[in-house]
Amino acid sequence: MSTETTSKANGQLNGFTDEAIGDDHLFTSLDTPMKANAFDMSNEEKKKRISILFSEIMDVMGLDLTDDSLQGTPDRVAKMYIEEIFSGLDPKNKPKMALFENKYQYNQMLVEKNITFYSNCEHHFVPIIGKAHIAYKSSGKVIGLSKLNRIVQYYAKRPQVQERLTNQIANELKTVLETEDVAVIIDAKHLCVSSRGVQDDTSTTVTTYYGGEFNNASKILELQNYLNN
Ligand SMILES: [Zn+2]
Repeated sequence: MSTETTSKANGQLNGFTDEAIGDDHLFTSLDTPMKANAFDMSNEEKKKRISILFSEIMDVMGLDLTDDSLQGTPDRVAKMYIEEIFSGLDPKNKPKMALFENKYQYNQMLVEKNITFYSNCEHHFVPIIGKAHIAYKSSGKVIGLSKLNRIVQYYAKRPQVQERLTNQIANELKTVLETEDVAVIIDAKHLCVSSRGVQDDTSTTVTTYYGGEFNNASKILELQNYLNN
């Protein structure tokens, strides 16, 4: 898939204004947009910088940083960003994938459903909470079931938009499993839609990727049956 689709001209990205991208949750490319020097700084330095900058935000909002309850917040946020909720930005945290021969000769679809994940909207930095369902058909190689879960968690732990998350998981699975026969379905709730903006508490967003043999009406129906039961 091409990632050279981003162009910024006249303050507009791919023809969209920053405002339209943010509130309508449009996304621009498969790769998470990163600076070339993203990993020049050590994690310890990053945490120190974020802590300083976050205390600045709190200070500007008028919060009293000498209060016992607030004092440790900048450090806590910095640690949480780097070590937990955005740890998937660092390629060093990518799960190691061991492939096995498909000795059982199982050649039907495998479905791993209801993989719970927590991510964060890259336009508002508030949570996206959802479930991912993954299916693949072995090309002769299989991976451990927990690895499917780990791939989802790795890409979820980034500032994200749901379409990109779906495609990044699908792309990784295709590469690792050496097959196009991969499906990814994500059903998620965006807190930037429920807790602010239009404040719709009931809507969820569904995104899908159907590759290879899964891009076929009867396969999609079969998959939907597994997910509904
Ligand atoms: Zn958002």
